[in-house]
Amino acid sequence: MNKRITVIGGGPGGYVAAIRAAQLGADVVLVEKERIGGTCLNVGCIPAKALLDSAHVFYEAGHSSEIGVMADPILDWEKVQSRRKNVIKRLVRGVESLLKTNKIRVIKGSASFDSPSQITVTDADGRKESVESDYFIIATGSEPSIPPIPGIDGECCIDSTGALELDHVPESLIVIGGGVIGIELATAYHHFGTKVCVVEMMDHILPNIDTELSEALKKDMIHDGVDIRTATKVCSVDGEKGSARVLIEHAGNQENITAETVLVCIGRRSRIKGLDLEKAGVKYERGICVDEYLRTSADNIYAIGDCNGKQMLAHAASEQGMIAAENCMGMEQRYDGSICPAGVYSSPEIASVGISEDRLKEAGIEYRKGVFPLMANGRSLIHRCKSGIVKVLTGEKDGKVLGVHIYGPQATEIIHEAVIAMEMKATAGDLAKAIHAHPTVSEAIHEAALGTENRMIHMPNNLRRLR
Ligand code: FAD
Repeated sequence: MNKRITVIGGGPGGYVAAIRAAQLGADVVLVEKERIGGTCLNVGCIPAKALLDSAHVFYEAGHSSEIGVMADPILDWEKVQSRRKNVIKRLVRGVESLLKTNKIRVIKGSASFDSPSQITVTDADGRKESVESDYFIIATGSEPSIPPIPGIDGECCIDSTGALELDHVPESLIVIGGGVIGIELATAYHHFGTKVCVVEMMDHILPNIDTELSEALKKDMIHDGVDIRTATKVCSVDGEKGSARVLIEHAGNQENITAETVLVCIGRRSRIKGLDLEKAGVKYERGICVDEYLRTSADNIYAIGDCNGKQMLAHAASEQGMIAAENCMGMEQRYDGSICPAGVYSSPEIASVGISEDRLKEAGIEYRKGVFPLMANGRSLIHRCKSGIVKVLTGEKDGKVLGVHIYGPQATEIIHEAVIAMEMKATAGDLAKAIHAHPTVSEAIHEAALGTENRMIHMPNNLRRLR
């Protein structure tokens, strides 16, 4: 008899796990309570980038006189929204058809554990079905976390899903939280013409990104007209739909700021409510606890993606999905997320992989640094990049690439050169040896790699001269 594997959740973690398990010969059931594709396809990565794309084109069309293009673009919001929905529909249908091709049985409903080997699935009409399985892979994702701020759940507040589905472009928007999602949505609405203010409690926006890059983006966004308040606490929110007042506090001084809408992007927490994990003997803290094989405290149950809280990224969830499926089928694969790229779809973009300079300093690790400014890169200049850098960090002694951080056009595309370099344990010398096509933004990675050895060609090397 084939092994029976049941996957709970049909996001990028769950559907990938299901397909991989089916490829390996298991009888697979996938339980999904809402829509196949999960957060990523329906209310996350994909719709956010569709909105950002419309916003970018609209903004660029109206701001291109310096390159000889005069236009006065008109925004058709209905079309912007229907395009977003069409992209989602197409991708969801694609995944559904892949599940069908792989003979995966999809059950619509919400799963909860009865024991380590059985769940009950309850559909929208309350009908129940018991499913027994040899293995379970929990992939239930995450949900927005709501901080305990008075008024934060009021009518004038929306979350990221609400921001994607607005029926008009708001005149003004206060974004609470300067993390990745907050900054991306702030960028989108700023480009659509909304007056945007971002309030971030920490000293820097994008707290997990190399500070040199996040500070450069902050400076550029402020220069572009986005109001960004860092080291600023939100004390309370009040108002009604269409009119909000937010009391903020910076360095002991309080101030009221107002906007049409408040977007709350404080972070996300693992979605485990209703799973009855105790009945399966699955331990959890902030997320479901897993070992390096992604196995939970119950031998036959794995947890992947946002619900284990390791790295809340779609591609991390998918990679973990492959690993968990393979481990259910008897392999012994470990998950190591240390070489996992992260992107911010700001304008221009940020992408990074590996360790940041801040962390290297904190850890007292000796390193070399090559920084190439994109103002000196032809392709970036053609893209009208006004600032931007590529930073390559390597081990002081062995020259191994420890981290690459890019702030510039197409950063989220070109970062993969660095991902492969790190996977292959390459040195800056290896990166520098690879011939890069001209003119490309990627040439800046080549230059920054040369920079770690004081041999940049298109910038003066101001460190000590090597032989
Ligand atoms: P999810 O995609 O959340 O899927 C979980 C699924 O499980 C859901 O469909 C849910 O309905 C289902 N489920 C939950 N409980 C049950 C239950 N009891 N029974 C049955 N089904 C259940 N990440 C990136 O890498 N790049 C980006 O650009 C990016 N942009 C984002 C933009 C926004 C606005 C948001 C909100 C997120 C973004 N993310 C991005 C994060 C990304 O969406 C998540 O990391 C990713 O979706 C996690 O995948 P997952 O499979 O773990 O969970």
